[in-house]
Amino acid sequence: MSLILAVNAGSSSLKYQLYEANDFTVLASGQIERIGKEDAIASIKVDGNKEKKVIPILDHTRAVEVALSDILEFSSVKNLDDIKGVGHRVVHGGEAFDNSVIVDDAAIAKVEELSSLAPLHNPANLIGYHAFKDALKEANHTFVFDTAFHQTMEPKAFLYALPYKYYEDYQVRKYGMHGTSHKYIAKRTAELLDKPIEDVNTIVCHLGNGASLAAIKGGKVIDTSMGFTPLAGVMMGTRTGDVDPAVFPYLLEKTGLSVDEQMHVYNYESGMLGISGISNDAREIEEATAEGNERAILTSEMYAYKIANYIGTYFVHLGHVDAIVFTAGIGENDTGVRARVIDSVSEALHINFNHELNSKVRGVEVELSEEGSTTKVFIIPTDEELMIAEDTKKLLGL
Ligand code: AMP
Repeated sequence: MSLILAVNAGSSSLKYQLYEANDFTVLASGQIERIGKEDAIASIKVDGNKEKKVIPILDHTRAVEVALSDILEFSSVKNLDDIKGVGHRVVHGGEAFDNSVIVDDAAIAKVEELSSLAPLHNPANLIGYHAFKDALKEANHTFVFDTAFHQTMEPKAFLYALPYKYYEDYQVRKYGMHGTSHKYIAKRTAELLDKPIEDVNTIVCHLGNGASLAAIKGGKVIDTSMGFTPLAGVMMGTRTGDVDPAVFPYLLEKTGLSVDEQMHVYNYESGMLGISGISNDAREIEEATAEGNERAILTSEMYAYKIANYIGTYFVHLGHVDAIVFTAGIGENDTGVRARVIDSVSEALHINFNHELNSKVRGVEVELSEEGSTTKVFIIPTDEELMIAEDTKKLLGL
């Protein structure tokens, strides 16, 4: 038996999914939350049954031990040596990686170097890698980068109009994020349309706590909304999205906040939370909107408007759009967001939207457009773990 583990290690969390390499059957999925605490939470799901415990897990090495012993205890897997491949999500691959790679010393050194572009994420991804490397002696490892799928963008799309030397000297450019999700959705959309991916143009709306759109032409990203960091693009749960950079020094002067404090405002106090004053959670915004709360209504309208702006831009650059796809927590579940976004663009893109169906469906793969729609609309639940497992299988020849 050959198994593949897809791993997403954060600074205080570890998520994993275990696959049978032949047919990608999911044998177990689990997560460890609150790593570093006495009351960390370890959970594992096997065949729909969930086991959960609260125990001290003080570091990633212990988190990996707990995850692996949970796999042995609760899943059908009885020998960890069957795990032949481990695919690790790495947030930032810079310009060095336009695809997933087998881990070697050079790849590790490069990911370390790129930590300056993703200080919260790359170091945590590497800690996860080292912990699994030590624990699973028989496995080979891959890195799967969030930025890689966006590397097909041309300079005219990814450069900021700053002096060119800042790109050359400091690699300041748009990188984009959620690439593994966008890649899965592009592939799955082509399958649903029953066309070769080379013939399909898609606009993917990955709308979760973090949100990004991507314009994908024939399977290749031509533009995406996140930028040098995940702060850019559309409005998010607590992040601003695009703001005129001159606002930053202006507010520094007016508020007396430090740079770090103001960055906190941009990252954690803005977006839906900042505009509504209610919550960063789309469910609460939706409820308050339905109750007629004015700031919630404004938040809902703004959120859809910013997304529609990007859809319009991407429509122009793609020429024609075969499908708009909603994915991630909000895209898959928020009926109101989907309706408002599509209502804003349906005339331009000749979409016949099935409002009634949209109002009833959450978290399932389904077409929301009707007969005669030039552009189709889908919900496709994203599956980044499957993409990680597929790349790992391909690279390691499992
Ligand atoms: P993600 O980052 O993809 O896990 O998405 C998380 C976000 O999805 C949450 O913050 C919620 O705003 C949103 N979400 C999850 N479930 C629902 C739901 N049933 N209705 C509306 N929004 C939801």
